[in-house]
Amino acid sequence: MRILIADDDEVSRCKLEALLSKWGYEVISVEDGMLAWEALQQENAPRLTILDWMMPGMDGSEICRQLRQSRKGAYVYVLLLTSKVGKEDIVAGMEAGADDYLGKPFDAQELKVRLRAGKRIVDLEEALRVQATHDALTGAWNHGAIIDMLQMELARAEREGISTGAVLMDLDHFKQVNDTYGHLTGDAVLREAAQRMTRVLRRSDVLGRYGGEEFLVVLPGCEALDAQGLAERLRRCIACDPVATSMGKVSSTISLGVVITGKGERMGVAEVLQRADEALYQAKREGRNRVVVVTGSDLVVVTHGQD
Ligand SMILES: [Mg+2]
Repeated sequence: MRILIADDDEVSRCKLEALLSKWGYEVISVEDGMLAWEALQQENAPRLTILDWMMPGMDGSEICRQLRQSRKGAYVYVLLLTSKVGKEDIVAGMEAGADDYLGKPFDAQELKVRLRAGKRIVDLEEALRVQATHDALTGAWNHGAIIDMLQMELARAEREGISTGAVLMDLDHFKQVNDTYGHLTGDAVLREAAQRMTRVLRRSDVLGRYGGEEFLVVLPGCEALDAQGLAERLRRCIACDPVATSMGKVSSTISLGVVITGKGERMGVAEVLQRADEALYQAKREGRNRVVVVTGSDLVVVTHGQD
């Protein structure tokens, strides 16, 4: 686990670095409060941090206060390191938002077990966050999370003058799978479909379970031709092989509606979803197991036939 140390005292900082590395932490170390604050603002900031209370720039308790006010990103567990160990100081530090404190000079064993307690909180918070944003059956993002990501990518595309793709997919005749083989088999098909699709997608693409047998993929910075090719690969990865289940092999196919925004074009989530839905509906109408693409304000551009 990565950990941020901020301490202006070089001796204390080096001692911390040495101990934490020995205990298996990946250490990021800075010597003042401003640098610590900057490090905590990074996208992939450490979730565990040891802050010295008295530091130039921002002091440890001020960083805590700002952290708790911003409520941005994942929870950061803060252990304040301080030579202020009076009861009032401790209350003030905890009220500022620290999770724990340790008096200077600290005892290595005590630090070790306190950090272990902090790591448990961070791990628990992470597990809850995953649970709240992921679909339990398929492991894909859940409806709320994938919509949030679509919204974020649309805003980014508009700001940066690039395109965004969205693919709405539906397993064809899925009700028949449930009716014929039972819901457990239906679940197995959904799980396998999500796994196959994840293997086809690029690293930056995100897959979400939109509803029952519907999935939504967001393709950040994706242009029309790429999106079309990707959608076609998604279609094939489902159609190519039946899914092996405890009830035997189950063949399935998907229909896909693809929307690509024009470069820097302003398009809201509702509009993208409505267009994707129309494209998907057209794919269904034309016989299923196919891709229908809509670009920007244009109407349907491409349809792929069945294998
Ligand atoms: Mg200090």
